[in-house]
Amino acid sequence: YVELKGVNKSFGSFQASKDISFGIEKGKLIGLLGPSGSGKTTILRMLAGLETADSGDIIIDGKVVNDVPASKRGIGFVFQNYALFRYLTVYENIAFGLKVQKWPKDKIRARVEEMLRLIGLEDTAKRYPNQLSGGQRQRIAFARALAPQPQLLLLDEPFAAVDAKVRQELRSWLREMISAVGVTSIFVTHDQDEAIEVADEIIITNQGHIEQIGTPKDIYRQPDTPFVAQFIGQSS
Ligand code: ATP
Repeated sequence: YVELKGVNKSFGSFQASKDISFGIEKGKLIGLLGPSGSGKTTILRMLAGLETADSGDIIIDGKVVNDVPASKRGIGFVFQNYALFRYLTVYENIAFGLKVQKWPKDKIRARVEEMLRLIGLEDTAKRYPNQLSGGQRQRIAFARALAPQPQLLLLDEPFAAVDAKVRQELRSWLREMISAVGVTSIFVTHDQDEAIEVADEIIITNQGHIEQIGTPKDIYRQPDTPFVAQFIGQSS
């Protein structure tokens, strides 16, 4: 179970997060949806431990983790700006986090092979990222994040860099993978259609605060505020 309770964060005089509270049931996929600059990434960075909240609590698996360093939070990331390591093969990329955690060599091999099977890219193990398509790279980034068995998976606009057709394929693929693995996940997007299609529940952010939390159906049918109605109403 993951929870934020009354979390605030300012950068200088600018308040990027205003009284953010929400909870996520284990195994759910949550979409953080809002316009550019509404504070989505800041929420992910605080969960990840890359940014410290000014006040409020961040709770992961029943523990307040405000003072727990990023590396000890058991979180996997697929961030736009956290690309695959160019000079490592696919195998080495997926093994990376396991080496950091000092897994024994045979366990690393078994886990990397399991991840490659899961994502259906067994034949790419020896290739380098620049020998793969954008869609394949994103699948491998996903495998790399999941390999160390994180309690929480954070995805920040994971499909932003691929074209529309591949993005569509990756969306349904991601949905299937997350259901299969059962990992609690948070997905940042500014694309309404993407959030509605992929998420179990959507959190709508606007100017640093939460406008509405609900299932895609609820948000679509019963927007709580004019902002939500307008934002969901416009297609991307
Ligand atoms: P986008 O979709 O464009 O990534 P977002 O909803 O994820 O937007 P954030 O990245 O969380 O929004 O940023 C929210 C606001 O906080 C922005 O106005 C941004 O300029 C500001 N901000 C974020 N990080 C910092 C920082 N380290 N220093 C100063 N301002 C920051």
